[in-house]
Amino acid sequence: MAASAASESRTPDPPGPAGPPAGERPAFGEVGAGIQLAPNCTRILDDYGLLEEAKSLGVVPDSMVMRDAVDGDELTRIDLRDLEKRYGYPYLVIHRSDLHGLLLRACERAGVELINDAHATSYENTEGGARVTVASGETYEAGMVIAADGLHSPARKLFVDDQPVSSAYVAYRGTVPADEPRVKSVDLSEVVVYVGPGCHFVHYGLRGGAMLNQVAVFESPKALAGEDDWGTPTSSTPPSPGPASSSGTACPSCGGRSGGGCSTATRS
Ligand SMILES: Cc1cc2nc3c(=O)[nH]c(=O)nc-3n(C[C@H](O)[C@H](O)[C@H](O)COP(=O)(O)OP(=O)(O)OC[C@H]3O[C@@H](n4cnc5c(N)ncnc54)[C@H](O)[C@@H]3O)c2cc1C
Repeated sequence: MAASAASESRTPDPPGPAGPPAGERPAFGEVGAGIQLAPNCTRILDDYGLLEEAKSLGVVPDSMVMRDAVDGDELTRIDLRDLEKRYGYPYLVIHRSDLHGLLLRACERAGVELINDAHATSYENTEGGARVTVASGETYEAGMVIAADGLHSPARKLFVDDQPVSSAYVAYRGTVPADEPRVKSVDLSEVVVYVGPGCHFVHYGLRGGAMLNQVAVFESPKALAGEDDWGTPTSSTPPSPGPASSSGTACPSCGGRSGGGCSTATRS
Protein backbone atom coordinates (compact mmCIF):
# COMPACT_ATOMS: atom_id res chain seq x y z
CA MET A 1 0.00 0.00 0.00
CA ALA A 2 1.34 3.39 -0.89
CA ALA A 3 1.52 6.07 1.77
CA SER A 4 -1.45 8.35 1.59
CA ALA A 5 0.71 11.34 0.74
CA ALA A 6 2.64 9.56 -1.99
CA SER A 7 3.01 11.62 -5.14
CA GLU A 8 1.55 10.64 -8.47
CA SER A 9 3.85 9.57 -11.24
CA ARG A 10 3.92 11.99 -14.13
CA THR A 11 2.47 11.06 -17.49
CA PRO A 12 4.96 12.46 -19.99
CA ASP A 13 2.52 13.93 -22.52
CA PRO A 14 -0.60 16.05 -22.01
CA PRO A 15 -3.93 14.49 -23.05
CA GLY A 16 -4.06 14.42 -26.84
CA PRO A 17 -5.19 12.27 -29.73
CA ALA A 18 -1.88 10.35 -29.86
CA GLY A 19 -3.18 6.96 -28.81
CA PRO A 20 -6.17 5.09 -27.46
CA PRO A 21 -6.11 4.92 -23.65
CA ALA A 22 -7.63 1.57 -22.75
CA GLY A 23 -9.19 0.65 -19.42
CA GLU A 24 -10.63 -2.53 -18.03
CA ARG A 25 -13.84 -1.08 -16.58
CA PRO A 26 -16.97 -1.50 -18.76
CA ALA A 27 -17.77 2.20 -18.37
CA PHE A 28 -16.11 5.29 -16.96
CA GLY A 29 -17.58 5.91 -13.50
CA GLU A 30 -16.98 6.84 -9.88
CA VAL A 31 -13.74 5.44 -8.50
CA GLY A 32 -12.40 5.45 -4.93
CA ALA A 33 -12.52 8.28 -2.39
CA GLY A 34 -10.22 11.29 -1.97
CA ILE A 35 -6.69 11.89 -3.20
CA GLN A 36 -4.09 14.42 -2.05
CA LEU A 37 -2.26 16.19 -4.87
CA ALA A 38 1.08 17.77 -4.04
CA PRO A 39 2.46 20.80 -5.98
CA ASN A 40 4.42 18.54 -8.37
CA CYS A 41 1.05 17.19 -9.54
CA THR A 42 -0.97 20.44 -9.51
CA ARG A 43 1.79 21.95 -11.66
CA ILE A 44 0.90 19.38 -14.33
CA LEU A 45 -2.83 20.15 -14.01
CA ASP A 46 -1.86 23.80 -14.56
CA ASP A 47 0.15 22.82 -17.68
CA TYR A 48 -3.02 21.19 -18.99
CA GLY A 49 -5.11 24.29 -18.18
CA LEU A 50 -7.12 22.28 -15.64
CA LEU A 51 -5.93 23.66 -12.30
CA GLU A 52 -8.67 26.25 -11.73
CA GLU A 53 -11.40 23.69 -12.40
CA ALA A 54 -9.64 21.17 -10.12
CA LYS A 55 -9.46 23.78 -7.34
CA SER A 56 -13.16 24.54 -7.75
CA LEU A 57 -13.97 20.84 -7.35
CA GLY A 58 -11.65 20.13 -4.41
CA VAL A 59 -10.31 21.87 -1.32
CA VAL A 60 -7.05 23.81 -1.00
CA PRO A 61 -6.29 23.18 2.69
CA ASP A 62 -4.40 25.64 4.89
CA SER A 63 -2.35 23.11 6.82
CA MET A 64 -1.46 19.50 7.38
CA VAL A 65 -1.49 18.43 11.01
CA MET A 66 0.09 15.28 12.36
CA ARG A 67 -1.44 14.01 15.61
CA ASP A 68 -0.74 11.15 17.99
CA ALA A 69 -3.34 8.47 17.18
CA VAL A 70 -3.63 7.46 20.83
CA ASP A 71 -4.11 10.74 22.69
CA GLY A 72 -4.83 13.13 19.78
CA ASP A 73 -1.98 15.48 20.73
CA GLU A 74 -0.58 17.62 17.93
CA LEU A 75 2.89 16.40 16.93
CA THR A 76 3.70 18.74 14.05
CA ARG A 77 2.06 21.08 11.54
CA ILE A 78 2.92 22.07 7.96
CA ASP A 79 1.70 25.36 6.52
CA LEU A 80 0.37 24.31 3.09
CA ARG A 81 -0.19 27.90 1.93
CA ASP A 82 3.51 28.48 2.53
CA LEU A 83 4.19 25.35 0.48
CA GLU A 84 2.31 26.96 -2.40
CA LYS A 85 4.43 30.11 -2.11
CA ARG A 86 7.57 27.99 -2.16
CA TYR A 87 6.70 25.68 -5.07
CA GLY A 88 4.36 27.94 -7.02
CA TYR A 89 1.48 25.47 -7.10
CA PRO A 90 -1.08 24.51 -4.45
CA TYR A 91 -1.54 21.41 -2.33
CA LEU A 92 -4.99 20.19 -3.33
CA VAL A 93 -7.33 17.47 -2.05
CA ILE A 94 -10.02 16.23 -4.40
CA HIS A 95 -12.43 13.32 -4.81
CA ARG A 96 -10.93 10.78 -7.20
CA SER A 97 -14.14 10.71 -9.24
CA ASP A 98 -13.98 14.54 -9.63
CA LEU A 99 -10.37 14.33 -10.83
CA HIS A 100 -11.29 11.45 -13.10
CA GLY A 101 -14.27 13.38 -14.53
CA LEU A 102 -12.09 16.45 -15.07
CA LEU A 103 -9.51 14.47 -17.03
CA LEU A 104 -12.22 12.62 -18.95
CA ARG A 105 -13.87 15.87 -20.07
CA ALA A 106 -10.46 17.28 -21.06
CA CYS A 107 -9.76 14.17 -23.16
CA GLU A 108 -13.15 14.47 -24.86
CA ARG A 109 -12.53 18.17 -25.62
CA ALA A 110 -9.11 17.28 -27.05
CA GLY A 111 -10.70 14.65 -29.33
CA VAL A 112 -9.03 11.63 -27.69
CA GLU A 113 -10.63 8.37 -28.76
CA LEU A 114 -11.49 6.61 -25.48
CA ILE A 115 -11.99 2.86 -25.43
CA ASN A 116 -12.88 1.05 -22.22
CA ASP A 117 -13.54 -2.58 -21.27
CA ALA A 118 -10.30 -3.55 -23.05
CA HIS A 119 -7.70 -5.69 -21.29
CA ALA A 120 -4.24 -5.22 -22.80
CA THR A 121 -2.57 -8.61 -23.10
CA SER A 122 0.59 -7.90 -25.08
CA TYR A 123 2.74 -5.18 -26.57
CA GLU A 124 5.23 -5.29 -29.41
CA ASN A 125 7.40 -2.85 -31.26
CA THR A 126 6.58 -2.03 -34.88
CA GLU A 127 8.62 -0.17 -37.45
CA GLY A 128 6.91 3.14 -36.71
CA GLY A 129 6.10 2.70 -33.02
CA ALA A 130 4.27 0.03 -31.05
CA ARG A 131 1.24 -2.28 -31.15
CA VAL A 132 -1.09 -3.24 -28.29
CA THR A 133 -3.21 -6.39 -28.42
CA VAL A 134 -6.31 -6.57 -26.19
CA ALA A 135 -8.21 -9.62 -24.91
CA SER A 136 -10.79 -9.47 -27.73
CA GLY A 137 -7.90 -9.94 -30.19
CA GLU A 138 -8.16 -6.41 -31.55
CA THR A 139 -4.92 -4.50 -32.00
CA TYR A 140 -4.07 -0.80 -31.80
CA GLU A 141 -0.98 0.86 -33.25
CA ALA A 142 0.54 4.21 -32.39
CA GLY A 143 3.85 6.03 -32.50
CA MET A 144 4.19 5.45 -28.76
CA VAL A 145 2.40 3.46 -26.06
CA ILE A 146 2.08 4.73 -22.47
CA ALA A 147 1.16 1.70 -20.36
CA ALA A 148 -0.50 3.30 -17.31
CA ASP A 149 -2.05 0.02 -16.20
CA GLY A 150 -1.12 -0.05 -12.54
CA LEU A 151 0.61 -2.39 -10.17
CA HIS A 152 0.11 -5.57 -12.20
CA SER A 153 1.00 -4.03 -15.54
CA PRO A 154 1.71 -6.64 -18.22
CA ALA A 155 3.95 -4.06 -19.92
CA ARG A 156 6.26 -3.85 -16.92
CA LYS A 157 7.28 -7.48 -17.50
CA LEU A 158 8.87 -6.35 -20.78
CA PHE A 159 11.36 -4.27 -18.82
CA VAL A 160 11.89 -5.92 -15.44
CA ASP A 161 11.28 -9.35 -14.00
CA ASP A 162 9.95 -8.36 -10.58
CA GLN A 163 6.76 -8.75 -8.55
CA PRO A 164 4.85 -6.28 -6.38
CA VAL A 165 5.80 -6.66 -2.71
CA SER A 166 2.93 -6.47 -0.22
CA SER A 167 3.46 -4.07 2.68
CA ALA A 168 0.76 -6.02 4.62
CA TYR A 169 -1.03 -2.71 5.21
CA VAL A 170 -4.75 -2.40 4.42
CA ALA A 171 -6.66 0.84 3.80
CA TYR A 172 -10.38 1.36 4.40
CA ARG A 173 -11.66 4.54 2.80
CA GLY A 174 -14.98 6.31 3.03
CA THR A 175 -16.64 9.71 2.67
CA VAL A 176 -19.46 11.26 4.70
CA PRO A 177 -21.45 14.49 4.12
CA ALA A 178 -19.91 17.34 6.11
CA ASP A 179 -23.30 18.37 7.50
CA GLU A 180 -23.52 15.18 9.58
CA PRO A 181 -23.59 16.22 13.26
CA ARG A 182 -20.35 14.37 14.11
CA VAL A 183 -18.46 16.07 11.24
CA LYS A 184 -19.52 19.61 12.12
CA SER A 185 -16.71 20.04 14.67
CA VAL A 186 -14.05 18.94 12.15
CA ASP A 187 -11.87 21.76 10.75
CA LEU A 188 -11.97 21.09 7.00
CA SER A 189 -9.18 23.59 6.33
CA GLU A 190 -6.79 20.95 7.73
CA VAL A 191 -5.53 17.64 6.40
CA VAL A 192 -5.15 15.59 9.60
CA VAL A 193 -2.98 12.50 9.93
CA TYR A 194 -3.22 10.50 13.18
CA VAL A 195 -0.13 8.30 13.46
CA GLY A 196 0.01 5.24 15.71
CA PRO A 197 1.96 2.02 15.99
CA GLY A 198 1.24 -0.04 12.85
CA CYS A 199 -1.63 2.22 11.83
CA HIS A 200 -2.63 5.68 10.73
CA PHE A 201 -5.87 7.53 10.12
CA VAL A 202 -6.25 10.42 7.69
CA HIS A 203 -9.11 12.85 7.12
CA TYR A 204 -9.64 15.92 4.98
CA GLY A 205 -12.44 17.81 3.27
CA LEU A 206 -13.62 17.37 -0.32
CA ARG A 207 -15.93 19.24 -2.72
CA GLY A 208 -15.39 22.70 -1.26
CA GLY A 209 -15.91 21.30 2.23
CA ALA A 210 -19.21 19.52 1.51
CA MET A 211 -17.73 16.11 2.28
CA LEU A 212 -15.27 14.55 4.74
CA ASN A 213 -12.87 11.92 3.42
CA GLN A 214 -11.49 9.33 5.85
CA VAL A 215 -8.81 6.68 5.40
CA ALA A 216 -7.97 4.09 8.07
CA VAL A 217 -4.74 2.20 7.42
CA PHE A 218 -3.52 -0.73 9.51
CA GLU A 219 -1.05 -3.55 9.37
CA SER A 220 -3.03 -6.74 8.75
CA PRO A 221 -2.03 -9.80 10.80
CA LYS A 222 -3.60 -12.01 8.13
CA ALA A 223 -1.54 -10.38 5.39
CA LEU A 224 1.58 -10.80 7.51
CA ALA A 225 0.67 -14.49 7.93
CA GLY A 226 0.24 -14.84 4.14
CA GLU A 227 -3.48 -15.69 4.39
CA ASP A 228 -5.63 -15.02 1.32
CA ASP A 229 -8.58 -13.24 2.97
CA TRP A 230 -6.56 -10.32 4.34
CA GLY A 231 -8.22 -6.93 4.04
CA THR A 232 -11.76 -8.30 4.18
CA PRO A 233 -14.07 -7.36 7.11
CA THR A 234 -13.67 -10.92 8.46
CA SER A 235 -9.90 -10.52 8.51
CA SER A 236 -10.14 -8.33 11.62
CA THR A 237 -9.85 -9.89 15.02
CA PRO A 238 -10.85 -8.12 18.25
CA PRO A 239 -8.20 -5.60 19.33
CA SER A 240 -5.70 -6.86 21.86
CA PRO A 241 -5.91 -4.18 24.56
CA GLY A 242 -2.20 -3.78 25.33
CA PRO A 243 -1.04 -1.63 28.20
CA ALA A 244 -3.40 1.32 28.68
CA SER A 245 -2.07 4.81 28.18
CA SER A 246 -2.29 7.29 31.00
CA SER A 247 -5.40 8.72 29.39
CA GLY A 248 -6.63 5.24 28.48
CA THR A 249 -7.69 6.55 25.04
CA ALA A 250 -8.12 4.04 22.21
CA CYS A 251 -6.39 4.54 18.86
CA PRO A 252 -9.08 5.89 16.47
CA SER A 253 -7.80 3.67 13.66
CA CYS A 254 -7.59 0.27 15.32
CA GLY A 255 -9.01 0.51 18.82
CA GLY A 256 -5.65 -0.53 20.34
CA ARG A 257 -4.18 1.43 23.25
CA SER A 258 -0.94 3.20 23.84
CA GLY A 259 1.96 0.77 23.63
CA GLY A 260 -0.32 -2.07 22.56
CA GLY A 261 0.36 -1.91 18.82
CA CYS A 262 -2.39 -1.30 16.26
CA SER A 263 -2.67 -4.86 15.06
CA THR A 264 -6.36 -4.91 14.19
CA ALA A 265 -8.98 -2.66 12.67
CA THR A 266 -12.67 -2.24 12.16
CA ARG A 267 -14.46 -0.72 9.18
CA SER A 268 -14.61 3.09 9.44
C1 LIG B 1 -5.24 3.90 0.08
C2 LIG B 1 -4.43 4.68 -0.91
C3 LIG B 1 -4.35 6.05 -0.79
C4 LIG B 1 -3.58 6.78 -1.70
N1 LIG B 1 -3.55 8.14 -1.58
C5 LIG B 1 -2.84 8.87 -2.44
C6 LIG B 1 -2.81 10.29 -2.33
O1 LIG B 1 -3.45 10.86 -1.46
N2 LIG B 1 -2.07 10.99 -3.23
C7 LIG B 1 -1.38 10.35 -4.23
O2 LIG B 1 -0.72 11.05 -5.02
N3 LIG B 1 -1.38 9.01 -4.36
C8 LIG B 1 -2.10 8.25 -3.50
N4 LIG B 1 -2.12 6.90 -3.62
C9 LIG B 1 -1.38 6.27 -4.71
C10 LIG B 1 -2.14 6.41 -6.02
O3 LIG B 1 -3.49 6.00 -5.85
C11 LIG B 1 -1.46 5.53 -7.06
O4 LIG B 1 -0.10 5.91 -7.13
C12 LIG B 1 -2.10 5.72 -8.42
O5 LIG B 1 -3.44 5.32 -8.40
C13 LIG B 1 -1.35 4.91 -9.46
O6 LIG B 1 -1.91 5.26 -10.68
P1 LIG B 1 -1.72 4.36 -11.94
O7 LIG B 1 -2.44 5.05 -13.05
O8 LIG B 1 -0.28 4.03 -12.11
O9 LIG B 1 -2.43 2.98 -11.60
P2 LIG B 1 -3.96 2.68 -11.18
O10 LIG B 1 -4.60 3.85 -10.48
O11 LIG B 1 -3.89 1.37 -10.50
O12 LIG B 1 -4.67 2.56 -12.59
C14 LIG B 1 -4.41 1.49 -13.47
C15 LIG B 1 -5.58 1.33 -14.42
O13 LIG B 1 -5.24 0.39 -15.45
C16 LIG B 1 -6.27 -0.56 -15.57
N5 LIG B 1 -5.62 -1.82 -16.00
C17 LIG B 1 -4.93 -2.71 -15.26
N6 LIG B 1 -4.45 -3.71 -16.02
C18 LIG B 1 -4.85 -3.43 -17.28
C19 LIG B 1 -4.69 -4.11 -18.54
N7 LIG B 1 -3.99 -5.25 -18.66
N8 LIG B 1 -5.26 -3.55 -19.64
C20 LIG B 1 -5.97 -2.39 -19.55
N9 LIG B 1 -6.15 -1.71 -18.40
C21 LIG B 1 -5.60 -2.24 -17.29
C22 LIG B 1 -6.92 -0.65 -14.19
O14 LIG B 1 -8.26 -1.13 -14.30
C23 LIG B 1 -6.85 0.80 -13.74
O15 LIG B 1 -7.95 1.55 -14.22
C24 LIG B 1 -2.88 6.12 -2.74
C25 LIG B 1 -2.98 4.75 -2.87
C26 LIG B 1 -3.74 4.02 -1.96
C27 LIG B 1 -3.84 2.53 -2.13
